[in-house]
Amino acid sequence: MESIAKKIKFTCPKCKSEHMITCYEQIGPDMKEEVMNSSILQWDCESCGHKVKLVYPTIYCNIEKECVVFLRPNAADASCITENEKELFKGFTMRLCKTADTFVEKVRVLEAGLNDRAIELLKLITFAKIHVENDTMQDIYFYRKSESGSLEFTLMYEDNIDGIDIDQAMYQNVLNIVTEELPQLDDDVHCIDLNWAGAQVV
Ligand SMILES: [Zn+2]
Repeated sequence: MESIAKKIKFTCPKCKSEHMITCYEQIGPDMKEEVMNSSILQWDCESCGHKVKLVYPTIYCNIEKECVVFLRPNAADASCITENEKELFKGFTMRLCKTADTFVEKVRVLEAGLNDRAIELLKLITFAKIHVENDTMQDIYFYRKSESGSLEFTLMYEDNIDGIDIDQAMYQNVLNIVTEELPQLDDDVHCIDLNWAGAQVV
């Protein structure tokens, strides 16, 4: 699937000047890097330099990898995806993301060929472990698979950003739990995030 761009009129929230900005109705692997480094959802005002994070409904789809990620800002749940949309991607890994950050992260996870349920559980375990010692920690995101095969995560604290490396063996352990103990997901759109992970361990 190829990316389809459109130009829309946009008013800078800071200096109120009007600009034509590029949005994407759909995004394919041709724009993979721009999604994974977030630049596709970033706009810098040419008049005042103000940085704006763009959030609008779009989809990322990699047909070869049979995965599709829907970005639906502020959607309550996966019922916002119509039957027609689902029909197009039958048999694919279909995911719903509600924020730009989780959308970017999901594309990184799926493009790295990782199991996103295992990644979310791993994030939850890591978050809980670190949060006990430092309660200014607010969020954790998958960043990338390193050359050695370890998994790199970004840790967001109240006033700084850090990273952590988790080895492949730890991921495999969690992946085994997912494949052996959790029920298979049905052929539908699922929102697999930290909330989902939290609901698995209660
Ligand atoms: Zn501006």
